[in-house]
Amino acid sequence: MATTPETVEPQAGGARAPRPAAARKVTRHRGEGQWGMGHYTPLNANEQFKKDDDGLNVRTRIETIYAHRGFDSIDPADLRGRMRWWGLYTQRKEGIDGGKTAILDPHELDAEFFMLRVRIDGGRLTVAQLKAISEVSEQYARGTADLTDRQNVQYHWIRIEDVPAIWQKLEAVGLSTTEACGDTPRVILGSPVAGIAEDEIIDGTPAIEEIQRRFIGNQEFSNLPRKFKSAVSGSPLLDVAHEINDVAFVGVEHPEHGPGFDLWVGGGLSTNPKLGVRLGAWVPLDEVADVYGGVIGIFRDYGYRRLRNRARLKFLVADWGVEKFRQVLEDEYLKYKLVDGPAPKEPSGRWRDHVGVHRQKDGNFYVGFAPRVGRVSGKTLGLIADLAAAHGSDRLRTTAEQKMLVLDVAEDQVESLVAGLEALDLRVTPSPFRRGTMACTGIEYCKLAIVETKERGRTLIDELESRLPEFDEPLTININGCPNACARIQVADIGLKGQLVTDENGEQVEGYQVHLGGALGLEAGFGRKVRGLKVTSAGLPDYVERLLTRYQADRRDGERFAQ
Ligand code: SF4
Repeated sequence: MATTPETVEPQAGGARAPRPAAARKVTRHRGEGQWGMGHYTPLNANEQFKKDDDGLNVRTRIETIYAHRGFDSIDPADLRGRMRWWGLYTQRKEGIDGGKTAILDPHELDAEFFMLRVRIDGGRLTVAQLKAISEVSEQYARGTADLTDRQNVQYHWIRIEDVPAIWQKLEAVGLSTTEACGDTPRVILGSPVAGIAEDEIIDGTPAIEEIQRRFIGNQEFSNLPRKFKSAVSGSPLLDVAHEINDVAFVGVEHPEHGPGFDLWVGGGLSTNPKLGVRLGAWVPLDEVADVYGGVIGIFRDYGYRRLRNRARLKFLVADWGVEKFRQVLEDEYLKYKLVDGPAPKEPSGRWRDHVGVHRQKDGNFYVGFAPRVGRVSGKTLGLIADLAAAHGSDRLRTTAEQKMLVLDVAEDQVESLVAGLEALDLRVTPSPFRRGTMACTGIEYCKLAIVETKERGRTLIDELESRLPEFDEPLTININGCPNACARIQVADIGLKGQLVTDENGEQVEGYQVHLGGALGLEAGFGRKVRGLKVTSAGLPDYVERLLTRYQADRRDGERFAQ
C-alpha cells in the first residue's frame, strides 16, 4: 500500500452528502483513495477529471457548444470521460482489426460517432416509448438498436450534432440516457414480469421508481469509484442475474413479516469475478430505496479509488466481510437494525427469460420472444410496438437475457400476436441455441474488442439449429469480444472469451478461450477455464457441436449439461 503524504481537501466536482463519522478523521496517507477515510486527492486520471467537474454537467456543454461546433470541439476529458454520464461512448473506427488493439493508443480507435445507451429501468416500456426508440434509431442511428443484457437499448453511429434532438425525443416520452454509463448508479434491473406474474412473491416496481427518483441524476451520487449495478426482483425465477450486481434485492417470504426482499451485495464479473453475498437481512418494500441509498453511500465513501481494477464494491465487500458490511450499513447509514431473513428458494426452472406464452394473474397473457443475440433494429422495434398496440397492449418489457415481452394480451389475441412476431423472425418458441445465446457488442463498434461477436453468435445459432435439431435442453452460450464480461461469460454453460488464437497454419486469427460449466441460481459458480482450450472463430460451430454431441452420448439419467 502506498504511503505518500497528501493534502486533504474536499472534492470540487458536484455536491456530496454529509460524510459519515469516519470521513471526518483526516489521515495523511494515500491508502486506497477512500473519501470516507479522508483521502480526497485524486490518485488517477479518472478521479482527476471527476474532481475537475461533475460528469452530469457535461450535458450543458453538449447542448450549448459541442452540438453546434462538432466533434473536434469536444474537450478530451469530456470526450473520453464525462460524456459517459449521459450514456455516450465513442465508437470504434471502422476497419481496425482486433490484432491492432494492443499496439494502438486507444484514442486512435475513436470514430467521430458515438454509441448511445438508453436506460430502461425495470425493463419497462410503453408502446409510445418503444416507438420513440425506434424513430430515434431510424432518424439518427442508421437504424441500429441492440437489446443489452442489462435491459437497455444501445444505438450506434450517433453524431454529436444530433444528441440534443435525441434527448428531446426520448425525454418527451419519459425515457432518458442519464447515467446510463460512467461511474454512476446505472440502470436498475427489474423483473420483466413485475406486477403481472401468477407466481410473483412481491412486485418491486414501487422500489425501482423510488430509487430512480432519489438517486439517478443526483449529484450526491454521481461521483462513485466506478459503476454501480443494481437489481430488484420479486420473481421466484430469479430473473435479474442478482448474483452479479453490486446490490440486489431478491423476493422472499419472511415467516413472520411476509413478502419482502433478501439483500445481496458485492457481485460483479470482469477482472476478479465475484458472486454477490447475502447479508442475511430481510428488507420490506418501502425500505428498499433507503437500503439502496445506504449501500451506494458506503460505495461512494469507502469504495477504493486508487486503482480502477479494484474500484468495484466487490473488493470492499471481500475485504470487510459480511458482518462488518452489514454493521456499517446499519450503524452509519440506516441508523436502524435490519431484520434477519431467509434465503431465496431454488427457482423452479432453468430458463429465466420468460420467453413463450404465459398466463398473467389478471387472466391476460404475456408473450416473450427471442431475436438473435439481442440484435434488432429501429425498424423491427417499431413493428413490435405496432404489433403490441394492434393486439390491445400498451406495455412491453426488456429482459436481462437480450429478449423482449409483450404484456396484457387477451387470450383471443395471443395466436395472432405470436404469428406476427414469428413473421418478424422473433421466435416465441425458439431453439435452445437461439434462446440461450447472448453476445456483447464486439469489434463491430467496441474499442476494447479483440474479436467479432454478434455475427459469430448469429452464425453459431443457425449452424447448431441445423446440425442438432433434436437438442432440447436449457443451455447458455455467452460470447464476449475481449476479457471483459459484458456478456457474462463466466456464468454461462459455455463461455467464450474473445482473443487472438493460433490456427493450424500457425497464423494468429480471431478466436475464443473456452470456459465451461458456469451458472447462476442457487448453484451459481464460475465456469472452468480449461487450460489450452481455445477455438478459432471459424472452428466454433464444429467445437460446440462436438461438445454437445459428446454430452448427449455420455450423460447419465437426469444429468444437465452444466453438471
Ligand atoms: Fe466491448 Fe469487451 Fe464489453 Fe464486449 S466484453 S462489449 S468487447 S468491452
